[in-house]
Amino acid sequence: MSKTTPESASIDSDVDAFRQRMIDNLWHTHGQAIQTADRHDAYMTLCYTVRDHLIDRWRKTVEAQYSSNPKFVCYLSAEYLLGKQLPQNLLYTGTTEVARQALTPYGLDLDDLMQFDVEPGLGNGGLGRLAACFLDSLATLDMPAIGYGIRYEFGIFRQTFRDGWQVEQPDEWLLHGNPWEFPQPADMVEVGFGGHVQPYTDNEGHERRRWICKEKVLGEPCTTLVPGYGTQTVNILRLWRARATEEFDFRLFDEGDYARAMEQKIYSENISKVLYPNDGTPEGRQLRLRQQYFFVSCSLRDIIRLYRLKNASWDQFSDKAAIQLNDTHPVVAIPELMRLLLDEHLLEWDQAWEITRKTFAYTCHTLLPEALETWPLELFGSLLPRHLEIIYEINHRFLSQVRQRFPGDEGRVRRMSIIGEGPPRQIRMANLASVGSHAINGVAELQSRLLRERTLRDFADLWPDKFQNKTNGVTPRRFLRMANPQLSELIDATIGEGWLRDLEQLKGIEPMADSADFRAQWRVIKQANKHRLSEVLQTTTGFSADPDSIFDVMVKRLHEYKRQLLKALHIITLFHRIKSNLGADVPPQTFIFGAKAAPGYWMAKLIIKLINSLAETINRDPDVRDQLRVLFVPNFNVSLAERIYPAADLSEQISMAGKEASGTGNMKFALNGAVTVGTLDGANIEIRERVGEDNFFLFGLTADEVLDLKERGYRPRNYVESDPELSQVIHLIADGRFSGGDRELFQPIVDSLLDHDEYLVLADYRAYVDCCERACQAYLDPDRWTRMSILNTARCGFFSSDRVIGQYCEDIWNLKPVIPK
Ligand SMILES: *Cc1c(COP(=O)(O)O)cnc(C)c1O
Repeated sequence: MSKTTPESASIDSDVDAFRQRMIDNLWHTHGQAIQTADRHDAYMTLCYTVRDHLIDRWRKTVEAQYSSNPKFVCYLSAEYLLGKQLPQNLLYTGTTEVARQALTPYGLDLDDLMQFDVEPGLGNGGLGRLAACFLDSLATLDMPAIGYGIRYEFGIFRQTFRDGWQVEQPDEWLLHGNPWEFPQPADMVEVGFGGHVQPYTDNEGHERRRWICKEKVLGEPCTTLVPGYGTQTVNILRLWRARATEEFDFRLFDEGDYARAMEQKIYSENISKVLYPNDGTPEGRQLRLRQQYFFVSCSLRDIIRLYRLKNASWDQFSDKAAIQLNDTHPVVAIPELMRLLLDEHLLEWDQAWEITRKTFAYTCHTLLPEALETWPLELFGSLLPRHLEIIYEINHRFLSQVRQRFPGDEGRVRRMSIIGEGPPRQIRMANLASVGSHAINGVAELQSRLLRERTLRDFADLWPDKFQNKTNGVTPRRFLRMANPQLSELIDATIGEGWLRDLEQLKGIEPMADSADFRAQWRVIKQANKHRLSEVLQTTTGFSADPDSIFDVMVKRLHEYKRQLLKALHIITLFHRIKSNLGADVPPQTFIFGAKAAPGYWMAKLIIKLINSLAETINRDPDVRDQLRVLFVPNFNVSLAERIYPAADLSEQISMAGKEASGTGNMKFALNGAVTVGTLDGANIEIRERVGEDNFFLFGLTADEVLDLKERGYRPRNYVESDPELSQVIHLIADGRFSGGDRELFQPIVDSLLDHDEYLVLADYRAYVDCCERACQAYLDPDRWTRMSILNTARCGFFSSDRVIGQYCEDIWNLKPVIPK
């Protein structure tokens, strides 16, 4: 036995220590002995034991931060899409093997217990996942940082399909308890809503105003530990949970009206009940605004409390705290900080405004003018009357600045005003963010340019220096190391493990693209990943996928601008070719989809139904099923994403140019050696620049050409009339070929394409179909293909979220690391 080597002796003692801590935890938290514990109890105690390791590091982090009084960044985001915590925390604490061995004597299997770990789905998609990647990188770079958000009791809905239609199920992620968070009631704060504003004169004779609110709600922070990789730093994510100030109304309770006695409690606690799906439906807008103000107000009070622990005056506030606004959702923080400084801490306007402007920075995630958030003035004022006053004052001062710079340009004044003239009159949150922040950034080169030239052009005229670009990135720990362990091992064996904290080191594998032996190993790993995914597909869709076929993957939220419909038209094209005996050279392909549609987004749901109907028809048709297969994985989330990206051959990034702000799915695919079929949109452009045009399949109109075509007058029917194959494809849908003869079902899709086609699906159709054909041809040459795959991984080191966070620290936050001892 190898017990004699010092290394295995230390592992053995680690295993013993870990096991003892687990047994103690189980006893102390559940009153259970490990011999009699069920698997869920064992899972919980495993998590507590791993968490203990994090807590030890956290204490060191807090001590180092407390003694050096550094600047912190506070990341405000309404969404965090964290993914499973157990495998991450095992990896980061280096306890995966130790835990595995500690469990064995009790007949417990680590991979089995991993199933109990629930992914907190506190986000919709890319924006929430970006926030999670940023927290990971901040801790990895030893940056003092706190994430703030909302602890939704129900996260993003669980998606199932019934008869091909999306059905939403509640996401009861907290049902069995969440071992990763701990509530900290000692840091509870109070938040107000409604009421009115009262003027008064203070002791020094100053005119002041105070907000007499009508309703109060408590915010209780739940803290989740965020470890860095390869460092002792552990930061925190604080998610606020709404609590009623009174459990129930005793008067009503005494009168026997139990239901009404509970009403106020339920109303208050509804604030953190459920994550908003990102569709623009108006219902529930008031609750959404309550959520935003609730988490922002709680967070600012927490930030001020932490600042005051070590700092007496206000002079240094913006030297000690940077607050990043992740999109417009937390922008009400700007008038809230003003209110706290003016009304509660009695600062004068000019000083309060100086602090506010220097503290905030704003990240804009969109280009769609209709996606820039606005609030009806009346709604806003009834909920936050004092904030409305403050916004009026900010706007008044701001517009006189604009008039001074651009005399007589009242059109510009109207466009830039924080208040949009209705009816109804609106508060424009992006304008408020632009005025109240010292830096405004887009999330990819193209989007940052278009923000300056189109969406926020007037603001860029006024303050060109405020505008920056920070191209998004993803954490290589979760999306390469955890998602693709075999490829990570091959990379480790080739260039060492440095890439995990310095992703540009992946460049080191570039020369290996010329090695036949390395390419063979690369292929074996991709093949194994495809096998693994195929098992998941079998259980989730009921259909298997042949790992020898091309895995052509499109996973992301369902949105018309992302153009899942274009992919569907391509599949129908191939189906039609095979059915009419023109498909002899169509190589075997598996089309894999994953996408949730916002529950109120009717067209998106119909597109899901169409793709599921294609799957039904194609997968059961003996003429085509050996060449084509269509699989729609229900409930696409981070855990599935980790299985899917590493198994992809082709990455579909086919949004209409000028619509996708950045995309991060595109980066995760490329890092895992998938080759992109894509438009010149978002970060696709930068991916292509880096991997090289020979290793990227480009098609479609550019953002400028899109604008041009629309200005000239786009007529989608022209494309159908001049392309017989496209005409056939549309006809098949309209004729009920995929709906059992029902010609009504998909008519809205056909009409929308023929009459408007807002996202130019038909204009890009021919270029796309041809491009996919080129990609298939390339795939049929394994040496060429594997070379492309390797080069995609090797050249995507830029897309690490560590790089992005480094840039934010340098260019926006002026943040320095604090390294725990
Ligand atoms: C990365 C990711 C996204 C974002 O994908 P895009 O292709 O950039 O839209 C959405 N959802 C999940 C679960 C992800 O991991």
